[in-house]
Amino acid sequence: MTKTQDFLNDFHWLMDVLQDIDVGLVILDKEFKVQLWNSFMQNHSAKMPDVVLGQRLFDLFPELPEAWFRRKADSVFVLQNSAFTTWEQRPYLFRFNSYRPITSIADYMYQNCTIIPLTNARGEVEHICLIIYDVTEVAVNRLQLQTANEKLHTLSRTDGLTGLLNRKSWQQELEQEHRRFKRHGHVSSMVMFDIDHFKKVNDTYGHPTGDQVIRETSSTLRNSLRDIDLAGRYGGEEFAIILKDTGADGAMTLSERLRKSIESIVVEHEGHNVRFTVSLGIAELNSSVKTPADWIECADKALYKAKNGGRNCSVIYTQ
Ligand code: GH3
Ligand code: MG
Ligand code: MG
Repeated sequence: MTKTQDFLNDFHWLMDVLQDIDVGLVILDKEFKVQLWNSFMQNHSAKMPDVVLGQRLFDLFPELPEAWFRRKADSVFVLQNSAFTTWEQRPYLFRFNSYRPITSIADYMYQNCTIIPLTNARGEVEHICLIIYDVTEVAVNRLQLQTANEKLHTLSRTDGLTGLLNRKSWQQELEQEHRRFKRHGHVSSMVMFDIDHFKKVNDTYGHPTGDQVIRETSSTLRNSLRDIDLAGRYGGEEFAIILKDTGADGAMTLSERLRKSIESIVVEHEGHNVRFTVSLGIAELNSSVKTPADWIECADKALYKAKNGGRNCSVIYTQ
């Protein structure tokens, strides 16, 4: 074989490899006209080379982020260094369908992209090569892991029976609210409440009905609050709320509304209508409340007064 034949063989083999490799390859000139379009790009875009070659990329794919892509490409032309983008920065450059039957997270192909400068015999960069990697599998795994972690985080903060904040995370919120008060002096109030004679509910109707009473109480509580209020299950049938930007009088209004709503709940048990009430203690945060524990103690004392005062009522803490 002659040297020229060797060269031509090498060249054809190279072209075969470029055509069949499982990444997208696009060569562009300085006007962003397509000079090479390999089979990966054909298959995923359903655009054949005869339609694509010689055409401006942005005319072929009007949805491409032109300004962004030009900025990236210009830096490759000028600085003669490669540029990269990952699916985390931009999920895809070309919107190709994902053929993987994984989940609804991936109805398109996630892509990493590299743009490399192509130097000609004179050492000039007249063309760039765009390389598109299909990273759908990696992206989907990562996103699924992220979703699972977020769910775990939520689960670790909430109480299983009621979906309210559990005691530990409610207490963290309480500490944060106390710090906010020390820094900015924002007023806020706490309401602690406890179901009256709950033992009797359990003893008369059984534990599952007791659980239902706790669930109904929680959902009434949730429906009575604003998004910024923080409700937690503090103990068995004891609940605690932080009402942001709310003084004792405002807390009393909420507390009474909540008390009346709970009073009207009816839980069915084998033909019986089970009704129940709650007692509530209110404590406003002020400068005499030195620690989060002090604040809880004030609300607890008010709650104790409400119980002693005949139950089914709200009491504001006073020194
Ligand atoms: P008071 O009006 O003074 O609050 O009377 P009470 O009967 O509610 O008194 P207490 O707070 O001592 O009783 C709480 C009861 O709640 C005791 C416990 O067995 C029950 N309990 C605690 N957690 C749960 C729960 O998750 N489900 C059920 N069904 N019962 C619970
Ligand atoms: Mg009770
Ligand atoms: Mg109790």
